[in-house]
Amino acid sequence: MDSGKLIIFSAPSGAGKTTIVRHLLAKFPNLSFSISATTRPIRGTEVNGHDYYFISKEEFLHKVAKHEFAEFEEVYAGTYYGTLVKEIQRIWSEDKQVIFDLDVQGGLRLKKKFGANALAIFVMPPSVEVLAERLSDRATDSPAKIEERIAKAKIELTFANDFDITLPNNDLSVACAEAEKIVSDFLNKKI
Ligand code: 5GP
Repeated sequence: MDSGKLIIFSAPSGAGKTTIVRHLLAKFPNLSFSISATTRPIRGTEVNGHDYYFISKEEFLHKVAKHEFAEFEEVYAGTYYGTLVKEIQRIWSEDKQVIFDLDVQGGLRLKKKFGANALAIFVMPPSVEVLAERLSDRATDSPAKIEERIAKAKIELTFANDFDITLPNNDLSVACAEAEKIVSDFLNKKI
């Protein structure tokens, strides 16, 4: 298998990691986003094969049984998300480096699997209260789903120290600039 670098962004939902990852994709043409497979329903303006590969639970579990995932998690009760080995290979074969938007457990699992080839970054929100506000402002989830995301966030925050780097996101433009520097250093580093 061709091998390259992996840049993993993890954070509780609403911490801003998706925005930071999009910013980095616009800045670094050599980065390519790892499109995950998920069993959750398609949302708003999302496009199948662009935001996610939206598949049924049966298909997902079939792929688990065939060891097609580099990592996967039941991120929310009954809802699975996973990184396909083929997706990483596809990106490396294009001579690009892979950037991921993963939940905290998935991020740590991938880091463990790829060691020094991977950089795992935890995006730290200012507080649980701000996170809750951001999730309700986003208005993409029901109040029950938001509650579920907040409960999960409280647990996820306790894993921040297990990451290579913690990136505070109190101010999005500062966080994006800091992320650029971190990623640039890692891409230029010999491993
Ligand atoms: P959302 O439903 O908001 O798109 O994503 C929910 C959570 O699942 C986010 O924290 C996102 O980072 C995470 N996630 C997305 N893809 C994957 C994946 O392939 N593996 C894991 N472990 N988490 C993922």
